[in-house]
Amino acid sequence: MASFDLVVIGGGPGGYVAAIRAAQLGMSVACIDKRPAFGGTCLNVGCIPSKALLDSSELFHLTSHNLGRHGISVSKVSLDLAALMKRKDGVVKSLTDGIGFLFKKNKITPFTGTGKLLAGNKVQVNKADGSTETLEAKNVLLATGSEIIELPFMKFDHEYVVNSTDALKFSSVPKHLIVVGGGYIGLELGSVWARLGSKVTVLEFLPRILPLTDGELAGMVKKSLEKQGLEFHLDTKVTGAKVSRGQVTVTTTGKDGAEKTFTGDKVLVAVGRKPFIDGLGLTEAGVKFDPKTNRVEINDKYQTNVPGVYAVGDLVAGPMLAHKAMEEGVAFAEILAGKPAHVNHDTIPSVIYIWPEVSSVGPTEEQIKESGRAYKVGKFPFSVSPRAKCMDESEGVVKIITDAATDRVLAVHIFGPRASDMIAEAVTIVEFKGSAEDIARITHAHPTLSESMAEAARAAWAGAPLHA
Ligand code: FAD
Ligand code: NAD
Repeated sequence: MASFDLVVIGGGPGGYVAAIRAAQLGMSVACIDKRPAFGGTCLNVGCIPSKALLDSSELFHLTSHNLGRHGISVSKVSLDLAALMKRKDGVVKSLTDGIGFLFKKNKITPFTGTGKLLAGNKVQVNKADGSTETLEAKNVLLATGSEIIELPFMKFDHEYVVNSTDALKFSSVPKHLIVVGGGYIGLELGSVWARLGSKVTVLEFLPRILPLTDGELAGMVKKSLEKQGLEFHLDTKVTGAKVSRGQVTVTTTGKDGAEKTFTGDKVLVAVGRKPFIDGLGLTEAGVKFDPKTNRVEINDKYQTNVPGVYAVGDLVAGPMLAHKAMEEGVAFAEILAGKPAHVNHDTIPSVIYIWPEVSSVGPTEEQIKESGRAYKVGKFPFSVSPRAKCMDESEGVVKIITDAATDRVLAVHIFGPRASDMIAEAVTIVEFKGSAEDIARITHAHPTLSESMAEAARAAWAGAPLHA
């Protein structure tokens, strides 16, 4: 029986990163994934293919609609969807191949199959050809991630009622795409297809979109996406879907109880994800998890209640984000090797890769208000940012929330061009408990988008920005 210091079940951002770090720290490591390509949801059907489509569709939209404002005229812009999808597949392949290379470099033994936890820290690998192999492990890391939530009254048929994985590979542009859920996936994939020519109608159960985002910014995002052609129906409860003559009709009930139907070519259901534990053997091995949420219970060292069994990523508490899973993978491996490590869940940034982008770190203004803490808000709109003007991207704002007494930065919320890159500075400041004055006094290169961060910080600290 093959024996390892660490056997990782699940080769997504949590699992593969933990495997690499553990191997770097001198452990013998095996990593099992049921997918032939390592990289998990993120690389295969999540972050990477969706961002590749967002980048391509953004270029298509820019070329079709916005180049004229720069004095560039392009005649007959056309879309080759097959080529666009091929590029996306190539991006995914190069990155998943890269993990294979890193596994070889770090002498990690890969297994393709479904891993099942057995008593005594053994792991059974059930392979596609029906054979099994049992591995012996000093330690086992559970990193099986999450799966798509299916509405029981609206089962996926993968043609008309589709999920995020289906929406990454449509072979033609739907005329009308109905989206259930105004969260991350609904807005990102809704944006992709709207830019490529679909009419997109978003049906959201709550009275607002992006329930975890600062309310003021979520309102700005909705207006911006409406200008881009997306249509929103809030307070709308989806009750069923019926397919007839190549169209799908979604039935809904409004807040007032009124029934309404929406007919389109496809309906994308994006109402969240839940931890994936099927066939993992948690109950047999006695690993505690919350049966309502499927989240595996761990302590601050990523240990479950079963000695030698650990868990990270989407499977455990916290936001279901790839960078959170990766950081936990690193911290787990370092703690296992006897080193100090931790992940601060309060400073995990979030990014929504629509255009303009949305990013944030720290609580929303609503949450801070509710806590009763006295706070200040400093804002700077991109409409007066010199660099944003040069780019012809003047929509959005940087919003910084500070403690009223100490000037410490509590949260930063950005809606604007390249907000995904700008949030890094904010994360550093919040992590190091810095103040708005710190940001305002740090020299930011001119003309850059990051000057808006310094201006918003100045507004919070000194009462007003310089350029607005
Ligand atoms: P996963 O990536 O889900 O990996 C778990 C792996 O375990 C999978 O490969 C699965 O096949 C395997 N597995 C499961 N059970 C077993 C078993 N018993 N045996 C063997 N293998 C098993 N996050 C971001 O931060 N940024 C983004 O831009 C972003 N975009 C996203 C877009 C979409 C469309 C989706 C669906 C998700 C996106 N996410 C994004 C979320 C991100 O993908 C997840 O948070 C992240 O992948 C979680 O990592 P993980 O390692 O915990 O699990
Ligand atoms: P989500 O939680 O982001 O959004 C789901 C939305 O659906 C919410 O607004 C919710 O109120 C709504 N909803 C729930 N039930 C509904 C119903 N019956 N009818 C109408 N609306 C309903 O979930 P998601 O968009 O499916 O994404 C799943 C997860 O994947 C995210 O939470 C995030 O962790 C991850 N993700 C991250 C990124 C990123 O980091 N950029 C991108 C995509 C996905």
